[in-house]
Amino acid sequence: MSAMVSHARPLVLVTTASRDRDQGLRRQDAVTGRNYSQALRAEGALPVMAANLDVEAASELIERVDGLLLSGGADVAPERFAQAPHPGLGVVDEERDAFEIALYRAARARGLPVFGICRGIQLVNVAEGGTLHQHLPALAHAIQHDQRSIDGRPHHAVTLDGDSKSARAAGSTTVMTNSFHHQAVDTVAPSLRATGRTTDGIVEVLEGTSGAWLLCVEWHPEMMYATHPESRWPFRAFVEALGDARAEADQIAAVVPARTAQPA
Ligand code: MN
Repeated sequence: MSAMVSHARPLVLVTTASRDRDQGLRRQDAVTGRNYSQALRAEGALPVMAANLDVEAASELIERVDGLLLSGGADVAPERFAQAPHPGLGVVDEERDAFEIALYRAARARGLPVFGICRGIQLVNVAEGGTLHQHLPALAHAIQHDQRSIDGRPHHAVTLDGDSKSARAAGSTTVMTNSFHHQAVDTVAPSLRATGRTTDGIVEVLEGTSGAWLLCVEWHPEMMYATHPESRWPFRAFVEALGDARAEADQIAAVVPARTAQPA
């Protein structure tokens, strides 16, 4: 029996927020920006959005997808990094924290590419043992990171390390990004590397130092995707990594005969 080589588009699980409806049906909606999915689709991947469920569902879902996109949203609960709540802390969602950390751990264990955006960079840093600034305006030296132009236009520069995969993907060591966050990475987890910062020293990019492809950015590239083509590189690099991971898996499948193919 010849090895199965898959030519299907990579499937990416996109995480969502749980939001109480303020009118109409009394229920919670699972929501996130449609533009995450549109950007993935434009780069050649297929997105699926998942509601926040139990952690067992997280591992099962990760078995069925090729990559994970951790989307933006509420603050990570400070109990997750052993801090008391700062007066500037925003809304938290412990169920979402638990579900996304379970998704992240399962994806890393399976060797899937992971892309974190905004809350996603914070979630990954906390999951790996790092800490967050709970409220950037409380830092005297911080520039404005919660821009008032809500159309997603570029707001501040981010300087990327020259030898980082971000700089290679961007084709530059300076990128202009939007900024819609009041929290940020503080202490970088030991397994991660900060490869991009703003002029105030705030971390805006994290990369994995081992294992499967891992990139996290503090800005919202999906909000600039359609209008600023130079900002597409994080999505492009993610979808390329999905293709590479899949080719590798196909190679392994071609070398190692599947157990299910053997007679009992
Ligand atoms: Mn920023």
